[in-house]
Amino acid sequence: MQTDILVSEVGPRDGLQSIKTVMPTEAKKAWIAAEAAAGVREIEVGSFVPAKLLPQLADTAEIVAFAKTIPGLTVAVLVPNLKGAEAALAAGADKITLPLSVSESHSRANLRRSHDQVIEEAQAIAAAIRALPVERRPHFEGSLSTVFGCTIEGAIPLRQILALAERLMAAGCDEVGLSDTTGYADPKAVREMVTAVRGVVGDKALTGIHLHNTRGLGLANVLAALEMGLDMVDSSLGGIGGCPFAPGASGNIVTEDLVFMLQAMDLRTGIDLKKLLKVRKVLAEALPGEPLYGFTPDAGLPLGFVPEQSTRKLETA
Ligand code: ZN
Repeated sequence: MQTDILVSEVGPRDGLQSIKTVMPTEAKKAWIAAEAAAGVREIEVGSFVPAKLLPQLADTAEIVAFAKTIPGLTVAVLVPNLKGAEAALAAGADKITLPLSVSESHSRANLRRSHDQVIEEAQAIAAAIRALPVERRPHFEGSLSTVFGCTIEGAIPLRQILALAERLMAAGCDEVGLSDTTGYADPKAVREMVTAVRGVVGDKALTGIHLHNTRGLGLANVLAALEMGLDMVDSSLGGIGGCPFAPGASGNIVTEDLVFMLQAMDLRTGIDLKKLLKVRKVLAEALPGEPLYGFTPDAGLPLGFVPEQSTRKLETA
């Protein structure tokens, strides 16, 4: 098993988009700065969608500009289409993710686009990226969402998923990602999906996964993904977002619990866990009344646990 795991924080995008409260821009900046200072190396800071649809993320361009000033941080954003990607390129995002729901009904319901239309957007985005000088080109990921099943169609035929993975790569994505939008995954399904998708795109073009804890299997699924050799895992501070259904169960995987598991297993994350646990305060203050999830923050670290120290030197506290 590899010893370096990239924890990609998605709370400022995935978390905030499913919370009605609009977090003030200054609070978002404080959150991102504090997490980066704790050693988090990649943060999905927002989504370039019309403010009318998601007023919570209307300040994404300003947030990207701020996050870009933090040394060593990969600033990731989600885009639904070429228009969003153009805004992301103008803002200077380091990484752009275009979701493609492998369920066509879900794709039409969520993005109002057929598979063919999303692939066309991917081609147009890739062309816009190629038009930039090499040093300004962001990493472009096509994320296969509802890949472990969809609430409208149930299980999606594997051949359809694999064809879409191939089409995203052919359209010009650098990489595809797997996203368990509905929280249907289990460790066996993760192993099989990683094997199947890597079979068509190659090992290097699938390194990351976005899992949910909807049915309590989030970290079990992470472990399966790590054992398959993936080394990039999405999670959300305080487990916010990702459509939590059951009381006590987060939607997104909780960053604090994920980092605890990784460090307990002697895997390096570059994150100072004690510092990370303190970042929750920023969230609690900016989102009053919003439930924050996670077991490690409540239970504390085990006696004798030696947390990994952050290797990054940042002046922000
Ligand atoms: Zn999510």
